Amino acid sequence: MEVDQVVRLPRLSRVAVCGGTHGNELSGVYLVKELLKEERKVMEEDEKKLVSVLLVLSNLPAMQQCHRYVDTDLNRSFTHATLNDPISDVAPYEVIRARELNAMLGPKGSPEAVDLVCDLHNTTANMGLCLIAYSDRDWICMHIFRHLQREMPDTPIRFIHFDIADKESFSLDSVGKHGFALELGPQPHGVVRSNIYTAMKVGVQHMLNWVRLFNSGTVFEGGFVDVYTLIKHIDYPRDSETHNITAAIHPHLQDRDFCLLHPEDPLFQTFSGETLTYKGNEPLYPFFINEGAYYEKGIALYLARKRRVVVPAIQVQPEQQGFASKKEE
Ligand SMILES: [Zn+2]
Repeated sequence: MEVDQVVRLPRLSRVAVCGGTHGNELSGVYLVKELLKEERKVMEEDEKKLVSVLLVLSNLPAMQQCHRYVDTDLNRSFTHATLNDPISDVAPYEVIRARELNAMLGPKGSPEAVDLVCDLHNTTANMGLCLIAYSDRDWICMHIFRHLQREMPDTPIRFIHFDIADKESFSLDSVGKHGFALELGPQPHGVVRSNIYTAMKVGVQHMLNWVRLFNSGTVFEGGFVDVYTLIKHIDYPRDSETHNITAAIHPHLQDRDFCLLHPEDPLFQTFSGETLTYKGNEPLYPFFINEGAYYEKGIALYLARKRRVVVPAIQVQPEQQGFASKKEE
């Protein structure tokens, strides 16, 4: 791939912005509700708009209860198997809802799927704004990321890559042709903080502006993106019989997401006051440190390796009237 060669990609006609996939992550819940109000106001005058935006509240029962989910985690229910295996009469609510969302926004992996899914999330971890995606060569997601970095210089913005095959990808954003989770924190679950809400709102506006610029033919120059690829996660120390945790994140590590963690750095502090250190053999970048929703998943933090990815210049493909659009890269 030549850096100065412009890669042509299909137009992004339909973009879904989803909130409430986790019912207690309130920035996305309230932002989508606000956008729905605005949408009603501007509906008539926006005839020749450059993109069609679908606003989705993903999990209404969980939102009503202000819980992450009702029966099971909706944002783990979009694997090929969960969407397609035979379903029983007593299937969890979220498994049924995942199929509805897949019918509405997908089907996942099909030409009918929406062009881009932006799924809004909050974390209790001090992660700033993160794009989380399954690919480190999805040039659309990576150019949106670069656009947000340019437009929001005061917000720490990072690109996280979950290196998981298409069939195993589990989250709502995997239903679109392109997709990412927009993760913002720190914000406690069940709480909305104005600074976090505003950063999410501004991020979504810039994302949609980028799509309009792309669809109108703007050439976006190539460059670099620093990508944090998930390597592994670490659970809390636990009592071997009760499985209760026996330590908390060490105070030196708490809130230090994306600060390099070296072997023998403090990791946990036990409830009796002892320091436990990181026993890995290479320095890695921690994130989702002490995420409130991950205690039940047995995850105290994630660890990532950072590397720099070259991103080519891109431009929308010219319209090919009368021809089927070319297969995507
Ligand atoms: Zn979430």
